[in-house]
Amino acid sequence: MAQKVAFIGLGNMGGPMAINLVKKGFAVTAFDLSAPALEKVKAEGCNTTSNPHEAVKDADFVVTMLPSGPIVEAVMIDDQKLLDSIPVTALVIDCSTVAPQNSRRVAKAASERNIHFIDAPVSGGTAAAAAGTLAFMCGGSGEDFERGKVVLQAMGVNIFHAGDHGAGSVAKICNNMLLAIHMAGTAEALQMGINNGLDPKVLSEIMLKSSGCNWSLEKYNPVPGVMENVPASKDYQGGFMLNLMLKDLGLAMDTAKYSESAVPMGSMAQSLYYMFKHGDSERGGQDFSQILKLFQ
Ligand code: NAD
Repeated sequence: MAQKVAFIGLGNMGGPMAINLVKKGFAVTAFDLSAPALEKVKAEGCNTTSNPHEAVKDADFVVTMLPSGPIVEAVMIDDQKLLDSIPVTALVIDCSTVAPQNSRRVAKAASERNIHFIDAPVSGGTAAAAAGTLAFMCGGSGEDFERGKVVLQAMGVNIFHAGDHGAGSVAKICNNMLLAIHMAGTAEALQMGINNGLDPKVLSEIMLKSSGCNWSLEKYNPVPGVMENVPASKDYQGGFMLNLMLKDLGLAMDTAKYSESAVPMGSMAQSLYYMFKHGDSERGGQDFSQILKLFQ
């Protein structure tokens, strides 16, 4: 018999992730506050419900993909109190990007009810969610991580165990802080080359084979026209929204404060992206690689 997954949060990421679970043979019952989001996944084979307690009551796995840590805590503990309806035999997997403290609080509340939990935030964005090629960074016991793999492998390709509860969230936050930094640095270097008469395509080729090579340059060049099919070549539409990068940088700054970590580069990157965003109200909804414009 198909394993049952309750999926909570069917937005830009959760919707395609739930559909991939259906394609891989799971019986998915979906809940979201948005009726259109539910309609979309219903058309692709998910069962839907207007009552989240109904969705989780006999689930083998409960997957959440929600906008923020406070919302995950509200859904699980404080408002909807879903943990009170989840069977002790189920594994709860939170894929949302949240602060490690949010993950640890949900893990503790789950454990008090004998429910097993892992945090499993993702890297990859909406295209990878649709293609089923997400990377998952997981926090929790080794046993729960192994158990969750069957679900995560149906939605992604690289599945990592980062450590105990909250470690997945820490890994995700460190990764995205570094992404913000190397994208800003790549834009700065490319623009200096352009200002000095270089063709950005030629400069990119040189740096790709030199010590400046990095993921932003290799996969996500911020200069329009250098690479096909990246947001820069589509007027910075699609991709990873500046507002989401700022959300993750905010989590990075909170995590740094919590652990008394010095993060001057991350803090500078946060200021650069804020300075840029405040220049034009449209920018928050566009791809973060448009930070190039700050240097132009
Ligand atoms: P989204 O806003 O498109 O989707 C969130 C969904 O959650 C919405 O459909 C909303 O109706 C639903 N929701 C909100 N509160 C709810 C509640 N109380 N109960 C049930 N449903 C509720 O966001 P998204 O882009 O899908 O992102 C989801 C998470 O994934 C976020 O934590 C985000 O930071 C993370 N993430 C996003 C991307 C990306 O590129 N979009 C990449 C990696 C990680």
